[in-house]
Amino acid sequence: MKIMKFGGTSVGKPERMHQVSQLITKDDEPTIVVLSALSGTTNVLVTIGELLSRGEKQNAKQQIDKLQDHYQAFVKDLVKKEESLKKAQAIITEHFEFLNIILRISFNEALNKDILAQGELLSTKLFSVFLDEQGIDHQLLPALDFMTIDMHDEPQIGSIKVKLSQLLKQYSGKKLFITQGYICRNARGEVDNLKRGGSDYSASLIAAAAGASVCEIWTDIDGMHNNDPRVVNKTVPIEQLSFDEAAELAYFGAKILHPASIWPAQTYSIPVRLLNTMQPSAKGTLIVQDAGSVGVKAIAAKDGIIAIKIKSSRMLLAYGFLRKIFEVFEKYRTPIDMVTTSEVAVSLTIDNNTHLKEILKELQAFGTTEIDENQTIVSIVGNELAKTEVVLAKLFESIKEIPVRMVSYGGSPHNISLLIPSASKTKTLQLLNSGLFGLS
Ligand code: ASP
Ligand code: MG
Repeated sequence: MKIMKFGGTSVGKPERMHQVSQLITKDDEPTIVVLSALSGTTNVLVTIGELLSRGEKQNAKQQIDKLQDHYQAFVKDLVKKEESLKKAQAIITEHFEFLNIILRISFNEALNKDILAQGELLSTKLFSVFLDEQGIDHQLLPALDFMTIDMHDEPQIGSIKVKLSQLLKQYSGKKLFITQGYICRNARGEVDNLKRGGSDYSASLIAAAAGASVCEIWTDIDGMHNNDPRVVNKTVPIEQLSFDEAAELAYFGAKILHPASIWPAQTYSIPVRLLNTMQPSAKGTLIVQDAGSVGVKAIAAKDGIIAIKIKSSRMLLAYGFLRKIFEVFEKYRTPIDMVTTSEVAVSLTIDNNTHLKEILKELQAFGTTEIDENQTIVSIVGNELAKTEVVLAKLFESIKEIPVRMVSYGGSPHNISLLIPSASKTKTLQLLNSGLFGLS
């Protein structure tokens, strides 16, 4: 069994859907295709939910109608036969009637999740109509019948496995399955989702549950690149990454893969391939247990970081100090990304400022605090970085002019992280691109 996941831009235009149908029928291996919503749809659904939560029904209605028009135009280009068009239009009518009903009832969070689910339901059902028209035999697998999360929003891989294999057994004659990314059921049995960008996570969970030979993530770029193509001029795709390296990159800002999607594949040893729908023959990036080569592979950056410094002479020769500080963050469920310490101070970073005020208040009990906002973590990722000592020399040589606020090195052999002011990000990524990769 192989898993092929296509993102929003890969299904966002009728001709792209045509392309996807060719890609999924290229070989004989049984395949589960995981689809995102058409590009832009989830954003509109989020807006509709926000408008309804503020009671702006008129504006919500406008957004719904505009989105419906978009789908009406889409299916006219997607299918040729009158009969297929009727089927596709009936699907659109069904889902938009549902949105119009929600308009009339009082809004709550569970309903919002129902709204958000419409994108993936529409994309998969419309794709199925198109496949039917093409005479491509397949089966729709409703993700809501097997994809579940527990009361802490964690996917339940054990029960996903059981339910998925029951469904697959039911359709043992079929070789091609289509399912929704992103959506799931929660512990209360309600429609829920795996958070924005969660279709990658769906694909990885399904790959793990099905014991797949590979989990292919198809997007609109030929794999993970060595640097952010939006910031620097020249970037190159990375041939191979270990799961650990990919996790660092995905977490520290590489937009191509949802960070949570690494662990299911890693735990169940499923190779992940990042591929390009627009250029299917390009090699892309292979993510497996083995890193393939040593040295620096890529740079990623994460904005919106806040640095907090806690300074106290009581820290001198004391023990238990760090525990007390970390407990404050634990209490407010706020993850810490970077930590550096000196004998009398500790600096750490967070990216979630929801409880910043409360955290700072409690930290004052331990010493004086200072915060720096608008910071960026630049993460240099590779294999055995600590062994290739030239990396450090080259790194600091190339960014001499950048005011580095924190450095984290040695936490893992795969990562060196720098904290810099966000205003210096573009410059830093450019300097590192030429300093570490010889690319300008
Ligand atoms: N459609 C969802 C989103 O835009 C999930 C995904 O595309 O991965 O966030
Ligand atoms: Mg995505």
